Amino acid sequence: MVSRIRVCAEQAVRAGRTCEARQCHLPVEKVSRYCRKHSHNRERYGDPLGRHIYKSELKAYKRLAAKYIAANRAHSAIAAALRWLHNLLYNSPAPPTHPNRRMSPQQRSLRFLSRLAKNGVTAEGTLCLIVALEMMREHDPFTFVSDAHYRAMLAHHVCRLAPGPFVAVWRGGIGGRKYDRLSVGTRNFLASKVISSIGLVALGAARAILKVETLENSLLKGVNVPINFQPTTKGKP
Ligand SMILES: [Zn+2]
Repeated sequence: MVSRIRVCAEQAVRAGRTCEARQCHLPVEKVSRYCRKHSHNRERYGDPLGRHIYKSELKAYKRLAAKYIAANRAHSAIAAALRWLHNLLYNSPAPPTHPNRRMSPQQRSLRFLSRLAKNGVTAEGTLCLIVALEMMREHDPFTFVSDAHYRAMLAHHVCRLAPGPFVAVWRGGIGGRKYDRLSVGTRNFLASKVISSIGLVALGAARAILKVETLENSLLKGVNVPINFQPTTKGKP
């Protein structure tokens, strides 16, 4: 019996379907809407045109965010966000003892959160990272090609604050283990949870930091003076 996936893949080849990503005309990969490269990008980075955001790119933003959070720890919104993050990391239910393929995204996310707690990741460090990502998006909107790309990178960097959980593998008759991958469902679940709860606080903090930084480091003096456009009378400029 021919599998359904193989039938769909053959139909795609016969119909000459091409990748739906912008300016890409390569044939689609099996039953995907995209070619091999773009479907890989979509799975890894959340968007077919997305790319990985490296830790080194976030470094400068994280430094500014850490300074801001340390100075405004008593602010009610920052304090509430820190409390929420602390609860997420340290008061979440215990993950399933026997991981299996049928685990829900919520159960999978608990495995990553418990690893973060075990490695002593702090609420301050996590908030600092989230604010840094928001700053990056505000400062250079072209870094993230879509909201899905931003969400994928947010969940990725939060889960990579500590080494991930392990899964058992069977290779050539020998049992072993490897780091569990962060699935698309888990990534979306975690990112939605974080953004819906503390996204607004992180955005507010990011804008406040950037406002001060751009004014202080601007080469043009007086850019913060509001520009008043006076209406001109006809004939008299
Ligand atoms: Zn493509």
